[in-house]
Amino acid sequence: MDGSGFGRTVARDRCEDLFAIDVRRWQREERLEPGNIFHCGEGEMGPKGVKIAIEETGLVLVHRNPETGEDITQRFRLDWTACQYGGHRPWFICSELHDGKECERRVAKLYFKDGRFACRICHGLTYASQQKDPWGQALATAQAIRMKLGGDAALVNPFPDKPARMHWSTYQRLRERAQRAEAQVWERAQRLTGR
Ligand SMILES: [Zn+2]
Repeated sequence: MDGSGFGRTVARDRCEDLFAIDVRRWQREERLEPGNIFHCGEGEMGPKGVKIAIEETGLVLVHRNPETGEDITQRFRLDWTACQYGGHRPWFICSELHDGKECERRVAKLYFKDGRFACRICHGLTYASQQKDPWGQALATAQAIRMKLGGDAALVNPFPDKPARMHWSTYQRLRERAQRAEAQVWERAQRLTGR
């Protein structure tokens, strides 16, 4: 009951809409020293209470599943490549499992979706600029969420209430996503009508 997989069938989730951790930013903030422990991710879209511990060859992330309240531990290796003009550039190695085998893609960002951090490919994400018709995607997303919540596809109707058996956090996440999508739809509609 957390909306998992839902986005895949309607419109792919966009990187821009998800919480991400950025290894370059952590490098700039000098957080990548082994032994360093810090927190992040208390924002609206992010996971709750993420604790990061930097180790010699990687990092351990502990965060809480908002649906179940359970702690989730994820480990990622860090890799470093030499830059053309000196210095080293850090990378996360995605550890998402596919048929028992790790993804191992070298990425600068790991995105948080469905209670897990993973790379863009593992989460099936797209960038906004890659979508051929963002307006159509936004409309489809908003309509699908309204129907999933028991409403109909008409955006002029009031937004559906929370279904009885759905968690509040799930409902709020879906509602926020629908609101962002609907804002895009209305913005485009206003441009087209010249208002
Ligand atoms: Zn991956």
